[in-house]
Amino acid sequence: MADQLAVHAEGLRKRYGDHQALDGFDLAVGQGTVCGLLGPNGAGKTTAVRILATLLRHDGGHAVVAGFDVAKQPIEVKKKIGLVGQQAAVDEILTGRQNLEMFGRLFHLGARRARARADELLEQFGLTDAKDRAAKTYSGGMRRRLDIAASMILAPAVLFLDEPTTGLDPRGRSEVWDAVRTMVDEGTSVLLTTQYLDEADQLADRISVIDHGRVIAEGTPDQLKSRLGGDRIDVMVHEQAELVRATRVLGGQAEVDEDRLLISVPVRDRVAAFTEVAKALEQANIDMADIALRRPTLDEVFLTLTGKEAA
Ligand code: ATP
Repeated sequence: MADQLAVHAEGLRKRYGDHQALDGFDLAVGQGTVCGLLGPNGAGKTTAVRILATLLRHDGGHAVVAGFDVAKQPIEVKKKIGLVGQQAAVDEILTGRQNLEMFGRLFHLGARRARARADELLEQFGLTDAKDRAAKTYSGGMRRRLDIAASMILAPAVLFLDEPTTGLDPRGRSEVWDAVRTMVDEGTSVLLTTQYLDEADQLADRISVIDHGRVIAEGTPDQLKSRLGGDRIDVMVHEQAELVRATRVLGGQAEVDEDRLLISVPVRDRVAAFTEVAKALEQANIDMADIALRRPTLDEVFLTLTGKEAA
């Protein structure tokens, strides 16, 4: 089983002076999947990624990446991985195509192969139209996509993406998300560190939440959300008197927010419960301002788990 994982870390420990940055860190990333590593500032995300990418030695525990032990076989690990950090690796003066050709040559592809690979990647990452423009004229999202394309020259088995959309506008972020999906379609497994919960929600098959150097929760985005008690139906009414009547109709489990004239009821069977609640309120002649089925957001999950907002 462990052999089939793209990344498998068990009990990793790392100390800086008297600060225990990783304190028994476990992680399992399935092949061809995206794992989101989420945690507040200083939780140990970067330390974990640097160890897994063989840039830093751990003091204890064990990690295997793409089938090789990071401590004993770092050269083999390096050949199998790509790393996209927050600092852009592309040369601003060169065009998109020249950048990718240059990376191809750095990775010892012949001139013809480097050019063909550059064209292939430009196409895959939606940069063909901009390929002959200097990278300095690119938008933030385009630059980041070029950066990710550069890390894909040799189609790494495992790619580490460190906060790939920090500082981008919504359009740039969604462009980068598409680029990540393209990579996963190509068979690359991804470990994504992010401070954006919606990003993990969009991209990750599974999420590990890290705090104080260890994983405190792990699961699919849906599993993490249902830990908070699952789905709810929120009903908003127009006035206080209706709030009281509606609360009576909806029964004991309803939570009431008097300021917002909102009643929130936990439900199990989403759609059936929704119809039932709407019908009961209608029959009681309660004039609803709004009714909505709601899953907890990952922000709420995070707050519940760590007692802190996401980084
Ligand atoms: P951020 O989201 O802020 O990047 P992070 O989760 O990536 O945080 P790390 O950078 O791994 O966290 O740091 C974990 C802890 O170890 C932090 O408290 C940090 O201050 C500390 N730390 C990191 N690098 C060093 C170092 N070289 N020397 C001493 N302490 C360090």
